Amino acid sequence: MRLIFLGPPGSGKGTQAKQLASRLKIPQLSTGDLLRAGVQSGSALGREASKYMDAGKLVPDDLVIQALLARLQQKDCERGFILDGFPRTLNQAEALDKAFQVKRIGIDAVISLEIDESKLLERLAGRRVCPNGHGEWHIRFRPPRNAGECDVCQAPLVQREDDREESVRVRLAAYRADTEPLKKFYAGQKRLRPIQADAPVAAVAQEIETLVGKLS
Ligand code: AMP
Repeated sequence: MRLIFLGPPGSGKGTQAKQLASRLKIPQLSTGDLLRAGVQSGSALGREASKYMDAGKLVPDDLVIQALLARLQQKDCERGFILDGFPRTLNQAEALDKAFQVKRIGIDAVISLEIDESKLLERLAGRRVCPNGHGEWHIRFRPPRNAGECDVCQAPLVQREDDREESVRVRLAAYRADTEPLKKFYAGQKRLRPIQADAPVAAVAQEIETLVGKLS
């Protein structure tokens, strides 16, 4: 199964993509995670990307496309994958289509998480992540067992630099300008599957399960 998850920051895209990937036993490929790993390790990609990421801006297409296509070459992607946070621009979507044409494979569906923008600021402002990569929680909607602590390693949870209000506004503007047009692109390919994401995590997950069940 090869899926793309599309949705604005704060729509629950990462959470849903991770859950489904673990159920389907295929990798969830988040370009945000790939880039953050590069930033942490101090790689050339990470150093260049962090200039954009901290400000909430999109990282230039050529860097992201290169990183993602290299990741797709790895063996664990052979059985399928979920793309989370890629493509984010028309350029990226076209590069992906081109790479797939060469391999003679295609995307099964593009799951588009639909949510009112007024809800997104609240969701993003309350998001806290484990500094050791064990996942994310929300102070109100998905609190950890012990307040402020990772459920897995007990490290103090932190707020992502780009979840601060100023960056969030830039990210939402980038989503509207660059990523929303992808809906039309994938609707044109008859691959777009909208899902209402303004519901509890488990309810949205159920809707996605039902949709994916119909695909296979
Ligand atoms: P995310 O974790 O998906 O919210 O991504 C965090 C940040 O990484 C974004 O705000 C961008 O700066 C960068 N990023 C992630 N994926 C992409 C992409 N496909 N294209 C450009 N920038 C990206």
